[in-house]
Amino acid sequence: MKVCKFGGTSVASAEQIKKVVDIVLSDKERKIVVVSAPGKRSSDDTKVTDLLIALGEKALAGENVDGALADVVARYESIAEELELEESIIDTIRKDLKERVQADRSDEVLFMDSMKAAGEDNNAKLIANYLQSIGVTANYVSPKEGGLLVNERPERVRAIPEGDDRLAQLKDKEGIIVFPGFFGFTKNGTLRTFNRGGSDITGSLLAAATGASLYENFTDVDSVFAANPMVVDNPEAIDEMTYNEMRELAYAGFSVFHDEALMPAFRKSVPVCIKNTNNPSAPGTMIVAERKKDPARPVVGIAADDGFATLYVDKYLMNQEVGFGRRLLQILEDEGLSFEHTPSGIDNMSVILRDHQLTEEKEQRILHRVETELQTDAVQLKRGFSMVVLVGEGMRHTTGLTARAASAIASTGANIQMINQGSSEVSLVFGILTEDETKVLRALYNEFFN
Ligand code: ASP
Repeated sequence: MKVCKFGGTSVASAEQIKKVVDIVLSDKERKIVVVSAPGKRSSDDTKVTDLLIALGEKALAGENVDGALADVVARYESIAEELELEESIIDTIRKDLKERVQADRSDEVLFMDSMKAAGEDNNAKLIANYLQSIGVTANYVSPKEGGLLVNERPERVRAIPEGDDRLAQLKDKEGIIVFPGFFGFTKNGTLRTFNRGGSDITGSLLAAATGASLYENFTDVDSVFAANPMVVDNPEAIDEMTYNEMRELAYAGFSVFHDEALMPAFRKSVPVCIKNTNNPSAPGTMIVAERKKDPARPVVGIAADDGFATLYVDKYLMNQEVGFGRRLLQILEDEGLSFEHTPSGIDNMSVILRDHQLTEEKEQRILHRVETELQTDAVQLKRGFSMVVLVGEGMRHTTGLTARAASAIASTGANIQMINQGSSEVSLVFGILTEDETKVLRALYNEFFN
């Protein structure tokens, strides 16, 4: 039995949904189908999730929501008309959206979670309805009924295992199960959504709980590429990689698969395949526990991401001051900030973090507290950094790899601001200025792939 998940572009229109149905019906093992909300039909289109966020924000601001609500209904209406579905499905969707938008708004986060989830929830109902209309035994199952349980607030949303036994029973239900991605329910029945792109997580949880033989993740590219095709011309396709490699790449900027989606499948050893709805006969990328390493190819992919800031702290004899690092990180923790890397020297320490978390006030408070409480000689916060990450399990057994990477970067004239190699040696991170990102990525790709 396989679990397959279809992303936003795969379910954006009637034409795409017909392709999805062809794919599902072409293999009897495709039993559980997880769907996203309708995504973009063209590059200048808007995702239904974004329409729903706009609708929810209008409601919270006390503005008239009629136009924004009609925009969402219109997206489903155009799909339903082309699929020749009965009018009642649109009535159901309209009623559902009205109920959500009129619901209690006292907790704004939970209100917005419910609005966002409407995209996948209604799409799953619509797709199940279409399957039934063409004579296929299929049923919509909601995460509440199915048992997709998540933790309570204020913790960041993640699935909890208490619902797994119920989820496992999905495989014994009759016909095809159409399950909405992106959200679950707490034990008290409160809806919470995962973060953006979170339908990948739902698919992985279902594949793990049902013990699927394969988790197929259908998107709009033939495979995962060794580097971003928007930056590097014709990058190589990756045929096979390990869970660890995919996790590192997803975390470092590869948006093709959510970085939190690997763990459930990995824990239950369910292989994952990334495939293209628009070209389903292409083999795609397989993600597995172990793969044969090619000594000539120590690097499997190169990711790059911008939006990093560095907090640089200098203090003479810091190395002898017990607890200095802890106290510095405590200040960040007090501001609710998470960090990515902490390279350090004898008298200095840097903390690299994602700068979207840093408001002007937080920045001022942090600088003031570090200076006064830690009695530092110098402290500064700089933005505008990118991290470029080489990923590959084969790197562990390769000498001279850092030297090759560093000289490729040097050849572009870019200055390396930071190097970090985790002890697992699955990834090697270079901190550079964002203005150098494109040329560095191209130079590294040339070095390791051309
Ligand atoms: N629809 C949601 C988003 O746009 C979740 C998903 O597609 O995975 O982020």
